[in-house]
Amino acid sequence: MTARRLAGTDLAARIRAEVAERAAARRDAGRPARLVIVTATDDEASAWYVRSIASAAGKAGLDCDVADLGTAATADDISARLAGLSADPAVDGVMLQTPLPPGVVLADVSGAIEPAKDVDGANPVSLGRLAVGLPAYAPATAAAVVALLDEYAVGLAGARAVVVGRSAVVGKPLAHLLLDRDATVTVCHSRTRDLAEVTSTADVLVAAVGRTHLVTPEHVRDGAVVVDVGTNPTADGGLAGDVDPAVAEVAAALTPVPGGVGPVTTALLLKNVVD
Ligand code: NAP
Repeated sequence: MTARRLAGTDLAARIRAEVAERAAARRDAGRPARLVIVTATDDEASAWYVRSIASAAGKAGLDCDVADLGTAATADDISARLAGLSADPAVDGVMLQTPLPPGVVLADVSGAIEPAKDVDGANPVSLGRLAVGLPAYAPATAAAVVALLDEYAVGLAGARAVVVGRSAVVGKPLAHLLLDRDATVTVCHSRTRDLAEVTSTADVLVAAVGRTHLVTPEHVRDGAVVVDVGTNPTADGGLAGDVDPAVAEVAAALTPVPGGVGPVTTALLLKNVVD
């Protein structure tokens, strides 16, 4: 079997086109939609991601500013800036880029982002609301996984879904979104005993770990749908997923890296800003 390729590029382009239309209407009405990304890192991969969001925002007609607080920023500095932007009526969306300076814990500062402007679902209140089924912005990556599965009409109700990774930005919110869609959800992590035994029960398997090619054919049931969230830098400047390409021989469908979850994530982040 060679797995169907679940690319995210067409879906992302459609979302961006809708965003551009709504952003143009906002601009005509007198005030452009505006996203501010707060950073406090000199991490190269992070800088690349921020540039790609800013570029996509610009093309869609949104204003996007980067507030770089520098690597010496304290938790108080970051919280104060997030609170200031949240209170600023000229700002529609606030995003805090990770990694943060050593000693600064995301959950300690992200609470300063007003939930109504929390376009990447970083405030613990957003995750809590998601968990109990109240309206909230989900982290864009988690939402992108579900949007991509919907795009290819992958049935979730009653399906066994296994998510590998339990971060607050991907694995945990995704588990809630999948539960909300009536999947039977299992979440794995670094302490999971016999990972392959658990993952090979999945109808839908999502890898969100950050380890190149961790998921091999022995982790995948014949005919499963596999979503690869991993974006691991390669020596030649490219990107590798968490899923070994050999999985395409057993899975029914597989998302590519790059060109799968990534472009949908950026598009949904911008959609949250105009929303
Ligand atoms: P993270 O915060 O480092 O979390 C990684 C998770 O993987 C943790 O829950 C960890 O378990 C688990 N894990 C680590 N080693 C494992 C192993 N050997 N077996 C099973 N589980 C293991 O990472 P993240 O922020 O969620 O990101 C995950 C990946 O997604 C990264 O490659 C990141 O670059 C990528 N990403 C992509 C997008 C996109 O738009 N495509 C967006 C965000 C992130 P413990 O909890 O036990 O430590």
